[in-house]
Amino acid sequence: MPDLQLIAAQDSSTHPPVKEVNVGSKREWNVRASPAVGRSRNPIRETLASITANQPSCSKTPINLGLGDPTHYPLHPPPPAAIEAVAKAVIGGGSNGYLNGVGSTEARQAVVDYHGRWDRVKYDISDIVLTHGVGQGLDLLFSVMIPPASVERSNILLPRPGFAQYTALLANLDAEIRYYDCVEEKDWEVDLEMIDTLCDENTRAILVNNPSNPCGSNYSRQALKDILEIADKHKVPIIADEIYGHMTWSSPFTPLASLSTSVPIITLSGLSKRFLVPGWRFGWLCLHDPLGVASSIKSGMQCWGNRFMGPNSLIQSALPSILATEPEWYDEVINKIELLAKIVYQGISDAPGLSTTFPSGAMYSFVKIDTAAFPSIRDDVAFATALYDEQAVFVLPGLCFGMPGYFRIVLGTPSEVMVDVIGRIQEFCDEHSVRD
Ligand SMILES: *Cc1c(COP(=O)(O)O)cnc(C)c1O
Repeated sequence: MPDLQLIAAQDSSTHPPVKEVNVGSKREWNVRASPAVGRSRNPIRETLASITANQPSCSKTPINLGLGDPTHYPLHPPPPAAIEAVAKAVIGGGSNGYLNGVGSTEARQAVVDYHGRWDRVKYDISDIVLTHGVGQGLDLLFSVMIPPASVERSNILLPRPGFAQYTALLANLDAEIRYYDCVEEKDWEVDLEMIDTLCDENTRAILVNNPSNPCGSNYSRQALKDILEIADKHKVPIIADEIYGHMTWSSPFTPLASLSTSVPIITLSGLSKRFLVPGWRFGWLCLHDPLGVASSIKSGMQCWGNRFMGPNSLIQSALPSILATEPEWYDEVINKIELLAKIVYQGISDAPGLSTTFPSGAMYSFVKIDTAAFPSIRDDVAFATALYDEQAVFVLPGLCFGMPGYFRIVLGTPSEVMVDVIGRIQEFCDEHSVRD
């Protein structure tokens, strides 16, 4: 059934007047991209390109700890059952056709079962929309939730430091972006008062990323309950980016939706991180709406999910087997990440001028640079540039996450590579820091 409200919202009368372009009497080419293109940039790719543009001046083998891609070295092979299921889907020949735009019934049922088993949240198939990764899921969801400025003012709350793609995707939409702080001294938990102050009647959503990229944090049950309480007070839904859900070691992961008895939660997850196959481009949205107050978001998700076809049929066909991966397989991966976290934590604690909080989830260490200790280094970008030049180690500066003065290490290499990295970082700090 077409959603009449959505169709009405697309009525041309709500759009701003069209500017006439006078091309003069002589017809000339006037091919131009939208000015909005320049607004939407991905600082991660740009920073990577600019820092690695020149060869390092040292002769060491370059090590890239920049991209959050667990296949880069690789950390661990994907689940064998997943590979087999995809191969079977290819060879079987029965999975080559168009499917429902929001995903096949079987694949969405597999997502319902997966979150029922791991998160203890009960979804209906109609709550699920399959997407080309979480990135496209966010794009779809933002478009559903954010109105054009000509219709209504809106704002959305994002974490700082946080994943740069949120800002890049929102750049073409009309919501004002308001950043709330995650506080290092509190294990990177959110500044609740700040969320409380930033929320107003135009707030469309609070985005929470747990476990966090780049912080490597895993919020306690209580911290999540506190966020829910504020969202409930302001009657604002939460977008929960839980792509690192269950990738934790010091303490168990709590899915936000499992705690909410009122606040609508739209959870995003997928295969890119926990299943170690980001190139498969597969993710999903799940709407948990205990009071049934977000039915327009639900129909919006369905409607926009059908604008173009969901992720490819082969992975959809294999999804029930992929999501049935044995718990032991995840443990092997987590054990490797935890070991890397320990190596980095110890190594960074011993490096003059650097400090870090021990991470408890995701696959990152976020390291603080004591700028006073490095008089010859201007900022985090200069630090990362010099580290690449002198030690051939590439890390992403905190600026890429809205947090200058830090850098992020991806916990995704074999442990001997990480030991090498730490040795190089310590050597770099010994050379550049002023000691007491
Ligand atoms: C890697 C990552 C994603 C995954 O995006 P995909 O499009 O599914 O590959 C989403 N959110 C965060 C915070 C990430 O770090």
